[in-house]
Amino acid sequence: MGDLNGDNRHLTSSPVSTTSGNLSSEDVDNFLPTSLASEELKLALNKEATDDELLKAINRCKNLVLESDQCSVERKWLVRHLIELRLRLQECKEAMDDPQHPRNKSSGVSKRTVRGHHLTLQPLLRSTTSRYCDHCTGAIWCVVQAWYECDDCSYCCHHKCIASIIRECAHVVASERGNYELEICPEIGLSSQKYLCAECKIPMPINREWSEARKCDYTGLYFCSACHWGSSAVVPARVIHNWDLTPQPVSQASLQQLRVTSRRPLINLEQLNPKLFSLVH
Ligand SMILES: [Zn+2]
Ligand SMILES: [Zn+2]
Ligand SMILES: [Zn+2]
Repeated sequence: MGDLNGDNRHLTSSPVSTTSGNLSSEDVDNFLPTSLASEELKLALNKEATDDELLKAINRCKNLVLESDQCSVERKWLVRHLIELRLRLQECKEAMDDPQHPRNKSSGVSKRTVRGHHLTLQPLLRSTTSRYCDHCTGAIWCVVQAWYECDDCSYCCHHKCIASIIRECAHVVASERGNYELEICPEIGLSSQKYLCAECKIPMPINREWSEARKCDYTGLYFCSACHWGSSAVVPARVIHNWDLTPQPVSQASLQQLRVTSRRPLINLEQLNPKLFSLVH
């Protein structure tokens, strides 16, 4: 099983339909248009900017947006900059009410432990990959928003979402459980789940033709779209019983558990399904 366990190619995570921050920072060009180079200083997004400076920059940026040509590179850059300035201002305000906010240099906290996650504050950088908060599913604007990543399972979230984290660290869950779910999609049915998401427990809207509930092929449980992003992974039970390596839709919790265990020698295939060896080379 060495090859399979070491292979992460089938563990994919798809972008989410976000409920907030639909425009990710990668949707527009990262480069500052040369025509705006002289403006950049006035609109500077520096870490030390005060509320007043940010408000001024926001107004200046709004005017420039209105003056710019529709669909131009300048407008795209300015709109993104405007969003970043507003998010920065929002963070400034949130930091005033929250002593642990990382913006507060003297009291801000860079390491947090929540539900088994060892969360480390990430540097404010323009990222080349889109990131989404594992809690609220909103885009993480890495250049302005304080955000954390778990050292053990890569769970990431906004600072503002830390207090509401529901999902246990995949590393802890996998270690406590000790082995994979070995039954193929052990479904108990949506009614047995009382029509609630298996993770966050929100009621799932059900109507006859359409259901928001998403089934996780690994656990057999149903999840809401915030806890199941339509990501797919190779499911161990399907490999053991059917040598089926087709990636299946799984919840984010399952995806993270399968990821942290992908290099652990958990499956004794010879013992679990000896017949497989005569059928598969
Ligand atoms: Zn969030
Ligand atoms: Zn974690
Ligand atoms: Zn949910």
